[in-house]
Amino acid sequence: QIVQSASINALLEKVLTFTSSMLRQQRIQLKLQLDESIPAAEVDAERIKQVFVNLILNATQAMPDGGTLTIRTYHDNKWAYTDFTDNGQGIDSSELDSIFDPFYTTKESGTGLGLSISHQIVRMHGGHINVRSHVKEGTTFTVQLPLPEILD
Ligand code: ADP
Ligand code: MG
Repeated sequence: QIVQSASINALLEKVLTFTSSMLRQQRIQLKLQLDESIPAAEVDAERIKQVFVNLILNATQAMPDGGTLTIRTYHDNKWAYTDFTDNGQGIDSSELDSIFDPFYTTKESGTGLGLSISHQIVRMHGGHINVRSHVKEGTTFTVQLPLPEILD
């Protein structure tokens, strides 16, 4: 694992440079709300970008007729948070326990690996992924990553 000091916002922006044309093609409007005051985090940048790509892909696939993807970053003293909110089909509460399991998929040609790998990557960083969803309204995945301790 290659750990470096990186800006969560900068990692997101890198991922968006190569996903924004796909979002446009799928008629998905992107709303970005980035907190520019988030301190740099110690992360494996390539792996965290992979997590962001997985969540953007899942959001896109949940909105086959288009929609809005809102990506918001914010922080507190201990954590940097990144919310990915779609207004797609949502996830039934009976399925929420399974979505992070390897090979769990509801898609015809899904691998069911995206969330399982993303969960592992975030856990490896000492962080968490949380999900809130309402059927027919949409879903928010929150990636929570630890910030370096401020010593004073
Ligand atoms: P895959 O995308 O290959 O199916 P994932 O691990 O990425 O595998 O996701 C597992 C399952 O979780 C999906 O098949 C889908 O049922 C559900 N899911 C994930 N993200 C979303 C989302 N944003 N909206 C609705 N369902 C989702
Ligand atoms: Mg996926």
